Amino acid sequence: MIANEKLKVRRNTLPSRTMSAPSVNRQQFQKALADWYDTNQRALPWRTQPRLYRTVVSELMAQQTRIATMLPYFERWMIRFPDFESLAQAPEDAVLKHWEGLGYYSRARNLHKLARSYVALETKPGTPEEWQALPGIGPYTAAAISSIAQNYPAAVVDGNVVRILARLEDNRREFSGNAEAVKAFTPNAETLLNPEKPGDHNQAMMELGATICTKHNPLCTVCPVLQHCRSAANDPAELPKIRRKATETVEIDRLWIVCSEKILLHRIPLTATQLAGQYELPRPADLGIQTPTGKPIAQRTRAITHRRIREKIHACKTDNKKLADTLHWIEIKELDAITLSGPHRRWIEELLPKHAQAKV
Ligand code: SF4
Repeated sequence: MIANEKLKVRRNTLPSRTMSAPSVNRQQFQKALADWYDTNQRALPWRTQPRLYRTVVSELMAQQTRIATMLPYFERWMIRFPDFESLAQAPEDAVLKHWEGLGYYSRARNLHKLARSYVALETKPGTPEEWQALPGIGPYTAAAISSIAQNYPAAVVDGNVVRILARLEDNRREFSGNAEAVKAFTPNAETLLNPEKPGDHNQAMMELGATICTKHNPLCTVCPVLQHCRSAANDPAELPKIRRKATETVEIDRLWIVCSEKILLHRIPLTATQLAGQYELPRPADLGIQTPTGKPIAQRTRAITHRRIREKIHACKTDNKKLADTLHWIEIKELDAITLSGPHRRWIEELLPKHAQAKV
């Protein structure tokens, strides 16, 4: 089926023009949103120079990452991997190195695999379903890519969109998690979608959620869709109501072993599901030893989703000549050349000036 036929079929299957929230007039809502977006959108590099490849990279990079954080990565990425072909041909080490510090490295691996699949495909993807057949592409990313880069009328539904829709409707139902909320609001997102300009509409919704209808302090007085919103005078910051998982605290011990301008690091096996191939400070079990007693030289806490990870870093020495294959002495001056897990690079840079030699 050619692209225009696919679009016609899709437009004919759009939901009816009445949204469940009677306060929302679809056409007026679309116009207010579009006018606001035209004058208020941030000049982001994948918008100022739109191209399918740039949209794909920006969508994968933006998952779980703030725009301000990803911008310098995006610029560097485009210099090193300007198109699907250059990315497909690159070695995985180079891809991971350019992702270092962004976290969630499976996105980098998936983007790499996606580029390889994409260049090999005779018929390129043009619908959300076809995009979802490629590595790392879920329903949200598929809708975003096909609507923004290919004008396909698919509605994106992420946390920003759920928040806006819940507040527009003053929907006070409690959801058991994000997935349930996304599923519940998808029909309304599709109803509100402007099928003539789906990419701009979706980006406008995301922009509205990121800059005006924010999580804690929605700026209702300057909101372009205020007249369509039922919760503006009814504490919108409480919405959506999504049950959060209880926070779980995890304690991890790390070792600081530095000797003769080298640091001992553990390389996560390539077969691991997370952070494969990256270097990190070793754990006592990596060396087959007990956690050293005494005060750690540093303690750092970070949060990943609902987990609080508290890591204690202990100075230590080893004279073990037969280290496990995953342990490597890395010259300190060569640290820039390897891919270190983001927090570990920060800790090492912070601790090296004070602990250039392990004092036990
Ligand atoms: S009026 Fe307020 S709560 Fe409603 S959509 Fe706008 S910013 Fe969000």
